[in-house]
Amino acid sequence: MRDAELLIPRPHRQSVKSLVNDGSQALDTIETASPGVKIILLANNTWKYWRDPSDIMLQEVFTSSWDETKPNPYNVALGDLPEKINIWVVDTLSEYKCPYQTKVYSPFGYRHRRRHQGVDLPLKTGTPVYAAFAGKVRLSKYFRGYGNLVVIRHENGLETFYGHLSKREVEPGDWVDAGQEIGLGGSTGRSTGAHLHFETRYQGYAFDPQWLIDFETGTLRHRLFSLQKKHLNANSRYVPESDDVEIDILLGDARDYAVADSIAAVRKAEEEKAAREAAAARYVTVKSGDTLSRIASRNGTTVSAICRLNSGLTAKTVLKIGRKIRVK
Ligand SMILES: [Zn+2]
Repeated sequence: MRDAELLIPRPHRQSVKSLVNDGSQALDTIETASPGVKIILLANNTWKYWRDPSDIMLQEVFTSSWDETKPNPYNVALGDLPEKINIWVVDTLSEYKCPYQTKVYSPFGYRHRRRHQGVDLPLKTGTPVYAAFAGKVRLSKYFRGYGNLVVIRHENGLETFYGHLSKREVEPGDWVDAGQEIGLGGSTGRSTGAHLHFETRYQGYAFDPQWLIDFETGTLRHRLFSLQKKHLNANSRYVPESDDVEIDILLGDARDYAVADSIAAVRKAEEEKAAREAAAARYVTVKSGDTLSRIASRNGTTVSAICRLNSGLTAKTVLKIGRKIRVK
C-alpha cells in the first residue's frame, strides 16, 4: 500500500507559478464536451481552458451573503465552521497570479495591539495590482481605514481584499480573470506609505495570506489548501520552518490524500478527454434536403451520437439550412 501510494501523482502538493501576462493573443476557441468550458488557442502556440462566467456567476457562492457595501457580509459564528476545510485554490481549469510580488513588509497578526488582518506589500503608487484568482467583484468602494478597497469573491468561497489603492478599475458584479488588472497601488485611507494591503478571508474570517502565497517568489504554495479553524485566529501566523510538517498536517491523513488525488486524476482524465474530443471535432453545415439520419450515415456516425454532441438537438429537431452541426 505504501509503495502503491508513492506511485500516485500528488498534483495538489505542487506549487503554482504566477501567471505571466505576455499579452499573447487568442487566435481561436474550440468547444469541449463540457458545456461552458472552451479551449482558447493562443498566438504563442499554447492553449488554455476558458469557462463561461455567465454560468459560474449563477452559483450560490456568488449570490448568498452578497453585499456590495460591507467588507464582511457574513454572519457566521466561528464555532459553526468546521475544524478543517479543504479548498482547491487552483485546479486544472483555473489560474493564479501573484497580486504584487515583493517581500512582505508587515505580516498578518497583532501589530501595536491592533489587529492586522492581511499582509502589507510595499509598492510605488500607480503600480498595477492583479486579481490573484478569477472571481466576481463583490465590493469596490472607499473606506476610511482601507482607502480604496476591492474585494473579489472566488468560486471556492475564498475572498481576496486589495486595499489602499490609488485607483479602483473594477465595479461590483464584474467578472475578473486571474491576473486581470483591478486597480493601481497607492496609499489611500489609513496608510503611512504606498503599499498593497492584501487579505484572504473565508466566511468573513481573515487568515494569513502567506499560507497560500510566497510573496517574495510570487509562487502559490499548493493547489489544495486545507484551512484549519485555528488559522482564522487573529494571531495565527504562517510559520515557514514548519511548512513541510504543516503540509502533512494540513492535508490530513492518507484518506484525504487519496480523495484529493482521485479528484485530481478524474479532472485530469476529463480534461484530456475534452482536449482529444475537441481536437477531433468535425462540423458540417446543413444543406437542403438534409435529415439527421442522412448526415449521420454520410459521416459514419449515428443520430444519437450527433444529438449527444449538440446540446438542444434531438432526433425530432427540424434542421434549418445553414445550421452548423457537430458530427465528431
Ligand atoms: Zn495592512
